Amino acid sequence: MQKSKDSFFTNDFSHIYIEKEAWKYPLTQTILQRFPHANRIEIDRYQDVFNRSKQNFFLQKHAPKLILAVKKAPFLYRGAEVCHDFGNTYFYYTSSALNCLYNCEYCFLQGMFPSANIVLFVNIDDYFTEVSHTLQKHPVYLAISYETDLLAFERIAPYVSKWIDYAREQEDLLLEVRSKSANYTAIQHLEPASQVILAWTLSPDAVIQQFEAGTPNLTARLKSLRQAIDDGWKVRICFDPVLHIENWQEHYRECIERTFSVVPAEKIQDISIGVFRIPRDYLKKIRKHRTDSALLHYPFESHDGVFSYPHEIAKQLIDHVYQHVNTYVPKEKIYI
Ligand code: SF4
Repeated sequence: MQKSKDSFFTNDFSHIYIEKEAWKYPLTQTILQRFPHANRIEIDRYQDVFNRSKQNFFLQKHAPKLILAVKKAPFLYRGAEVCHDFGNTYFYYTSSALNCLYNCEYCFLQGMFPSANIVLFVNIDDYFTEVSHTLQKHPVYLAISYETDLLAFERIAPYVSKWIDYAREQEDLLLEVRSKSANYTAIQHLEPASQVILAWTLSPDAVIQQFEAGTPNLTARLKSLRQAIDDGWKVRICFDPVLHIENWQEHYRECIERTFSVVPAEKIQDISIGVFRIPRDYLKKIRKHRTDSALLHYPFESHDGVFSYPHEIAKQLIDHVYQHVNTYVPKEKIYI
């Protein structure tokens, strides 16, 4: 049996920093109960810890601390150009957490944040208030797990359950929960909601083993995904980022074949395909620390401030994955 590695990084945190203002929130108490042995340190503002100068993200990543904080507005941000909007006009994302339990070698968070410590925002109702306010103006397509992997946190902080319970009451809201986790069982007790898409990022095992440290293997992700489909959820598959690794044709062909040997293609909501891309400034920062990463030191090309593979390579990667996916799923359901 393949073992899920979802618990790999959820070992006890040695220290939990708690903003003074955060104590009164029920979610703070829920999270603290999970870590009874952690040292608790009260702080004024999470930025005092998170944004300290001279931190080393890469060293901290081995033993991150937890920070419980109260997010201030804004709670919603317009979706970035480099992200798929799946045809939705009003595309937003939000972050209930900063940083991630996993440690993907290509993760843009390494270049974005000064610290690998994990911030969990406990005032989740304030997010809902802002979404409700925005929904009065127009429909909202909202990605809630772009700058973290929220489902991987579910047994620490039940964000996904709370978002789903909120979303099912909002007619014009469409929520995307994207994950590499095999943690579907943590939300399996919930009734499926038509306003929610559960999205899994799938990669060949060669990519998972080399570049997606701490994440569950492909078999475990597919098991979670299949269970969600069987339970009646809308499910999206993301082959993103596709990486230009040795024997990439073979690895991605096999990954796609394995996927559709487990997943009934006609029940998939849609599929996204994208090659690795990262803002130029983030990559420059990461390269200084990950000096031995062939993946990150690839001679990428820069377009509009974003580094990615040269056009011809990117086209080959996309075409290959697209053609294989398209043998199972009609083109109307594939987003590039
Ligand atoms: S799962 Fe996503 S957010 Fe988490 S480390 Fe990997 S790339 Fe970064």
